[in-house]
Order: sequence, then C-alpha cells, then structure tokens
Amino acid sequence: MESGVKSYCRTFPIVFKKSNGSILSDEYGVEYLDFLSGCGSLNYGHNHPHLKAKLIEYINSDGVTLSMDLFSIAKENFLKKFSEIILQPRNLKYCIQFPGPTGSNAVEAAIKLARKVTNRSNVIAFTNGFHGCSLGSLALTGSSHHRGHSSSLLTNVNRIPYDGYLGEKIDTADMLDKVLSDPSSGFDMPAAIIFETIQGEGGLSIASPIWAQKLQRIAKKFGILIIVDDIQAGCGRSGDFFSFEALNIVPDIVCLAKSISGFGLPMSLVLIKPEYDLWLPGEHNGTFRGNNHAFITAAAALELFWEESSFEIEVRRKASLLKNILQKLAEQYGLSVKGRGLMLGLEFNNPETAALVQKECFSRKLIVELCGPRSEVLKLLPPLNVSDQELKMATSIIENSLSICMTQYQKNISCVEAM
Ligand code: PMP
Repeated sequence: MESGVKSYCRTFPIVFKKSNGSILSDEYGVEYLDFLSGCGSLNYGHNHPHLKAKLIEYINSDGVTLSMDLFSIAKENFLKKFSEIILQPRNLKYCIQFPGPTGSNAVEAAIKLARKVTNRSNVIAFTNGFHGCSLGSLALTGSSHHRGHSSSLLTNVNRIPYDGYLGEKIDTADMLDKVLSDPSSGFDMPAAIIFETIQGEGGLSIASPIWAQKLQRIAKKFGILIIVDDIQAGCGRSGDFFSFEALNIVPDIVCLAKSISGFGLPMSLVLIKPEYDLWLPGEHNGTFRGNNHAFITAAAALELFWEESSFEIEVRRKASLLKNILQKLAEQYGLSVKGRGLMLGLEFNNPETAALVQKECFSRKLIVELCGPRSEVLKLLPPLNVSDQELKMATSIIENSLSICMTQYQKNISCVEAM
C-alpha cells in the first residue's frame, strides 16, 4: 500500500519491532546496531529509560497532549530548562518560536521571518546544502534528486559554493563578498544567508571557523541575517550543544529539530535574536506547534545530559576515538574521513563501492546511511551515548566489509581492464 516514495526501507528491508539504546530488533528478535539513529533524531538512543519513564508518568497523569500554542505546564518547564541549561550558560539571548514539528517547518519560518525583517526576498544558500523538502526549504536544498519536478518553482535563492567546494585555495566567502559588493553582479541583496556547519546530507563537508566568521562579517556589512540550520548537526552531534559554538559565531536565527525532543518525537524550534522577533500574533501558524509529549522528553533530556559538562566531554572523547579508527581505515584503503563530532563518514571514490560496503555492513547487522551528492559517503550517526564497545563493534564490521568490498571492487576493475 505504501507509495514508491519510500526509501530507507528499500536499503534495509526488515520489519522492525523493538528498539533500545543503539539496537533495533526485527520481528524475529534479530538485533541490528543502529548507526542511522533516525537520521540524527535519536541522539540519546532509542527508548531512553529515563525519558520513557517521564513520558509514561506524564501520560498516566492525563497531562495535556496537544495544546497548539496555548500555555501549558510542559511547555513552561521546557522553556525554563532550555533557557537555564542551554542559553544562559552560553550567554545566548534568543526568543523561541515553536513552528510545526518538522525541520522543514523551522526552515520555512526562519526564511519567512528574515524576509520580513529585511524587506528583501532573496536568500543565499550553498552547494550540497540540505534544508528540507517543502517548497521554501527545497529552494534552499541543492540536491537535484529532491528538487526534481518542483525546480521551476524554486525561486529567490542564489547558490554559492560551500567552504572548500572549489578547493583549498579559493575562499568562497570572499566570492560572496565580491558579488554582493558589485551592483552589477546579478545578485539581489539577500535577506539571509543559510548554512549547515556540517553538511549532513550533502557529504559531511564542514565549515571552517574562519569561513563562518567571514560570513558573519559579510552579513553584518550588508544587513543580512545569518541562519544556521542546526537540525542535524545540533543537539550535541558536533560535540557541543550547538554546532556553531566551535566556529565562534552567533547566528541571528537558529533552526533546531530532529533530536531536540530527545526521544524521536516530532518537535522543532526557531531561535530568534529578540530584536528580529517581528512576528505578529499568529502570522506564522500551524496546528502541531504544541507537542507536549515532546516538551516532556526534551526537558528531561536537557536535565539529564546537559546540566553538567560530562556528557559533552564524553561525546568529544568518543568522536576522537571513532575518528582515529576511521582515519586508519581511510589510510589503508585510500579513502577520506569526512565530518566532525559524532557525525563522521568515509568518502569513497565512487558510489558503487560505498553502496557495496553499506550492503555488506547491513548483512553484518550494522545500519549505516550513505550521503553526499552521489551517495559516495558512508555516514555514521551513532547515538551520542553509544558505548565504546558498540563503537568498536561497528568499526570492526566496517573494517571487515571494507576488506571484502575493496578486494571485490579491485577484481571487477581488473576484469573490465582485461576485457
Ligand atoms: N535541515 C537539515 C540540515 C536536515 O538534515 C533535514 C532533514 N534531513 C532538514 C532540514 C529537514 O528536516 P525534516 O525532514 O524534519 O523536514
């Protein structure tokens, strides 16, 4: 009955029944290590016992489920925790908009607000950026596969090469500065510059601090708002709560979704510098803006993981453990390591080998996704609280898969050459 649009289930054709921590189990009890984590929506793993207990307790007490944007105890508590645990210690001053519950909803709200604030319509986005599949967010998304039949409707966006896209010697922030300074460049002055600090779908390319700081300076110079799409790289994935912390910038608007509820429940946020919160009441609307179950698990996750610094330190330690192992494999097989934090991947020379390795990993009960313009990057998104043992198990599956697939690929090449 399901439409042909389905995708993940084609790569992993299993009927799943249960999930716990880093493990997904199928209907027969066979266990898989899940390094896809709901595409970064399960940063604390599946069914975290503390978050689950809080949610069950709340439901059992007949707590409000849906409240649109009415005040509720669950929302009040979430806002309090987000302010005390996340914003205040980082000296960040944002007010919070709850748009509809998806990442695309957050991006749509962010660009609409930037357009209102600046009274301009154009937005700068980057090569290989991914921001969602609704019309406004799709206009910002690079992938032709996703833009497809909507492409003629995707307007008011200028695309600039991302950091490093044209090689180390060409600074694409300078390029942006140049075209915006030239009244005859054909670039209309933009309302916003939107970017991911780690390109989650586009191949795990990362923005350097210098490049991001330059973007911030350019934005200031021309009265443009900086929007960081932290939907996939945020909520601890990069090693800090916000991925832009390591870049030493403070965006005007931040989009969060995916792991903000901590439990895989739909929820998204737009963080807005107060001076830009020019929304009129109800000007941007949506029924599902008050998912109280998500508020409950989100607040519990902030309390449990972010009140102390020990969790962040652990994420960084595991990230460097994983990176070292991937680096060795990359050297051995002529690959490159991509990404940052616990958002790391191996880039292959061609998508065929990447797909072979992914398939081999799956046959060994490891679920990993591919990303990149041609799906040539094997992307590892373990839960942030993955154990060292699970990390080692996953990397040894990858190592074995590489050893089989790279030999097979070499053999295929030799066969073709001999023909
Ligand atoms: N931005 C980024 C960086 C994303 O990774 C995604 C989802 N992959 C989105 C936006 C869109 O989020 P959603 O699928 O929840 O609409």
